Amino acid sequence: MEKILRIDMGAPNGPKVTIDPIGSYEGLGGRALTSAIIAKEVPADCHPLSKYNKLVIAPGLLSGSIAAMSGRISVGCKSPLTGGIKESNSGGQPSQVLARLGYTAIVLEGKPDSNDLYSIFIDKNGVKIGIDNNLKMLPNYDLVDKMKEKYGDKIACISIGPAGEMMLGAASVAFTDMDLRPARHAGRGGPGAVMGSKKIKVIVLDDTGLPMREPKDPAKFKEANKVFVEGLRKHGVTGQALPAYGTNVLANILNEAGAYPTYNFKQGTFAGVSNISGEKEAALEAERGGMPTHGCHRGCVIRCSGVYNDKDGHYLSKQPEYETVWAHGADCGIDDMDKIAMLDFLDDNYGLDTIEMGVTIGVAMDAGLLKFGDADGAIDLVHQVGKGTPLGRIIGSGAAVTGRVFGVERVPVVKGQAMPAYDPRGVKGLGVTYATSPMGADHTAGYATTANILKVGGYVDPLKPLGQVELSRNLQIATAAIDSTGMCLFTAFAILDQPETFQALIDLLNSFCGLSFTAADVVEYGKKILKMERDFNIRAGFTKEQDRLPMFFKTEPLPPHNVTFDVKDEDLDQVFNW
Ligand code: SF4
Repeated sequence: MEKILRIDMGAPNGPKVTIDPIGSYEGLGGRALTSAIIAKEVPADCHPLSKYNKLVIAPGLLSGSIAAMSGRISVGCKSPLTGGIKESNSGGQPSQVLARLGYTAIVLEGKPDSNDLYSIFIDKNGVKIGIDNNLKMLPNYDLVDKMKEKYGDKIACISIGPAGEMMLGAASVAFTDMDLRPARHAGRGGPGAVMGSKKIKVIVLDDTGLPMREPKDPAKFKEANKVFVEGLRKHGVTGQALPAYGTNVLANILNEAGAYPTYNFKQGTFAGVSNISGEKEAALEAERGGMPTHGCHRGCVIRCSGVYNDKDGHYLSKQPEYETVWAHGADCGIDDMDKIAMLDFLDDNYGLDTIEMGVTIGVAMDAGLLKFGDADGAIDLVHQVGKGTPLGRIIGSGAAVTGRVFGVERVPVVKGQAMPAYDPRGVKGLGVTYATSPMGADHTAGYATTANILKVGGYVDPLKPLGQVELSRNLQIATAAIDSTGMCLFTAFAILDQPETFQALIDLLNSFCGLSFTAADVVEYGKKILKMERDFNIRAGFTKEQDRLPMFFKTEPLPPHNVTFDVKDEDLDQVFNW
């Protein structure tokens, strides 16, 4: 896995394939690689949908190996939603498959002049690109069915739905899971719109006949993997809570903490939470013949995912995750799990970020477009996005645009990106992350829920400003490094609490890549990535004024604790001053 596949979609005689050695990007994977390529090769002031932007799809350093949990993939570009650098991270099978095919990254460049739509097929024999206009405006599930008919079921797909083709700001890039369902998404920041601007509908991968990637030191690697898996199995969050109830185990926890944003961030508790909690979701899945425990890619041992069936026992969607259930649930005042699962399916099918869509609908509800709690109205809005009606295109452009169009003052976004499922007034460490992350409001960029709420990796009072800057800084640095390995971020629970599990991760990296990294080197690696990303954003025109939460979080107390976001601006400006 030492080469970069570049596809120039704007080449004079049609798409041109080049396979480059990794060269100066050696030692980088996942987020480190996507951000390095974007920072170096994309003019920071370009339009995100122009030929100057690039879409970089990169497996992690350990992807394609037998290392447990190593199948995450990074998608990088200049974001159409934030206008800054973007790394959006997804599960699914393509990371493992792409890595085994020998590619450190696929870089999609340029832009065709025509309106033709392309599909790409990659296997051990090379890369085939063809015009496939029959695929136009196909939703992701229908698209993958067609790919299965054509190429068989040993494939993995990376695709966009109609939202990506329409180049909407909330458009995701879909990745198929182990059951060949397009149910895992790099959703944040609109990377699907960039793929759509390149006119690429789907990339089909087939690694048949190719072996697993081999470590430099197989014996040490095997031992490190054993210790790593043991560490994940013995930790309460990764070994019990996530497998049993999925990420939505957090619904009751955040609600009890009074930080579960409800009715477009007006209060921190939701009366209907018991109907949409992880416990309820898992019970419904078991009762209806779905699956409460499921991995999104081969080699996942936590298995936080699941399968959600309808009342008749038919597949409705993959298990909607905590952020999705919250965004379409409490934030919109909806407490019907089946309707939320339908919204999750529609988002996946049309190729939309579930967080952006839920928050946008909450903003539309605040504008009076529909009432809080109107699940059928919400479903209709998502269908309108898929059909591309004028209203649908506004909604599909995200919360910031929708707020402007309908004159809403309270729009929970940072750098144009919708805020996830933790109210920053009640989880102040996450408020710092939302404000300062180069990615815009993103819980995964520095997941302070750990120490603020779950008491993992220490404890920092979530309602007080003290210690939040340091907490967010350290987590942002660690996350940037983990996002480069291909490891699922949920491994962080065990890594933060158990030094031997953290050491096992370092041993995995060293024995696989032939490195001699220490914990301090990992920290430096994370800092380097953040610095590249911050530099890009500064060149794109960002100043410290964009490292702020919307004003209403500072002025409107959040019930039940009646707290505001009171981390000082000058303290926010110290997050990257290490
Ligand atoms: S823990 Fe969940 S998100 Fe992470 S790799 Fe496994 S199924 Fe995917």
